[in-house]
Amino acid sequence: MEIIHLSAECYPIAKVGGLGDVVGALPKYQNKLGHFAKVVMPAYNTKFMQENEFEEVYNSWGNLGERAFHVRIKKEVTNKLGFDLFIVHIDGLMDRDLVYGYPDDTERFLAYQIGVLDWINQWEHRPDVIHCHDHHTGLVPFMTANCEKYKSLNQIRTILTIHNAQYQGQFGWDKLHYLPAFDLWKAGLLGWKTAINPLASAIKCAWRVTTVSPSYLDEISHSANGLEGLLASERGKSAGILNGIDNEVWNAANDPMIDKCYTVRTVDNGKKANKEALCSVFNLDPTKPLFTFIGRLVGEKGADLLPDIFHNALAHSHGNINILVLGSGDPVVEARLSELNNWFQGNYNTYIGYNEKLSHQIYAGADFLLMPSRVEPCGLNQMYALRYGTVPIVRRIGGLRDTVVDIGDGGFGICHDQTSVWDVGHAIGRAYDLYQDKKRIKKIRKDMMQLDHSWDKAAQQYIDLYQM
Ligand code: ADP
Repeated sequence: MEIIHLSAECYPIAKVGGLGDVVGALPKYQNKLGHFAKVVMPAYNTKFMQENEFEEVYNSWGNLGERAFHVRIKKEVTNKLGFDLFIVHIDGLMDRDLVYGYPDDTERFLAYQIGVLDWINQWEHRPDVIHCHDHHTGLVPFMTANCEKYKSLNQIRTILTIHNAQYQGQFGWDKLHYLPAFDLWKAGLLGWKTAINPLASAIKCAWRVTTVSPSYLDEISHSANGLEGLLASERGKSAGILNGIDNEVWNAANDPMIDKCYTVRTVDNGKKANKEALCSVFNLDPTKPLFTFIGRLVGEKGADLLPDIFHNALAHSHGNINILVLGSGDPVVEARLSELNNWFQGNYNTYIGYNEKLSHQIYAGADFLLMPSRVEPCGLNQMYALRYGTVPIVRRIGGLRDTVVDIGDGGFGICHDQTSVWDVGHAIGRAYDLYQDKKRIKKIRKDMMQLDHSWDKAAQQYIDLYQM
């Protein structure tokens, strides 16, 4: 089967969060199953683009209404990622340092989608499936089904995977003319409430819809930033497929980014060495349990509560715990988290920013990883933590509910029901008690590291879905 993944992110080319990790791994595992999966993504000004060799496969002009844009599509020549990678250059629109966050993101991602369809439209054969990830690629199912110029593409099966329904990419009807011509009676398929809504349009038009965990599929029928009714009505063509993790990238036994590699057998010494290295860089005490948070500092992750949670935990523990935060996002949360450095020197530290290598070092060196999320479509951090023998402390929501079992139920994590200062504080207390029980935590670490969250199973589930 030939599958084209369309996505704004793909690790290691450009990653903002879990979407990048998924698109950087799933195609590789689909290819291992004997299929032919490739990724077609925008070309930003990232290091990967500068350091690797590409050959041009397409050079043409596209249109956003009256505005013409120059498109060049290039293929990475060595196939080093385990799948064919195509990057879409659009001068003046995609050639930026960041993936998102520009006032013209609507134009940027529309031009990318139109550029890609123009290219596929002139292929001599047709791929079997176009797999769209999130709203940045959400108008593809509508365009292949309805735009006059793409009518030869209308039998290609389209799949939408919702990685996060909070972000929908809405824009005004005044920009309708950006789309290639179609029968205006079909315009209703583009909209939701008062705007054009790419995510809603993809939910309506894709042949199948998936979410990145089964629990998230249940939850979005009653909480999806306004799309609840639509998702409930399209439930019949929807499925929840739990994300996997790339066991080759996330492997403590040969991870080049960590200080000391370790296996299930050597986890205690390995963790100790990584923790000591981390604590010496961040001025923490390696003899005390190390709690960490890694992620976007936004309300969805419960980040606004972290300053109070950490303040209480550090004040009540009288210097008996360490906390290390890696993240960026809301400037107010960033400032409040940094401020705690002054109060709890020697037990607390922050790294505000994005740092892939440090994230690996933290998964390897920490004892506990906190995820007090309000919304968590799947969550990958807890699976990385499990793989590196770090006990996850999670709110029971979305993919966290599907992957973490509480120690009280014979499991390997610590769960709480609410995103509140009190609930998380109580969970930290339980973790502290677990840390004192050396025999138990050592056994839990070994058990966690042997759980299998690799992509093998999910890659096959997607293939089964395409075959349907
Ligand atoms: P989301 O996609 O909602 O941000 P996920 O848990 O699905 O959350 O994926 C987050 C991914 O991004 C993980 O690979 C995590 O390690 C990584 N990550 C998040 N913030 C940072 C950061 N500041 N530095 C390095 N990696 C980060």
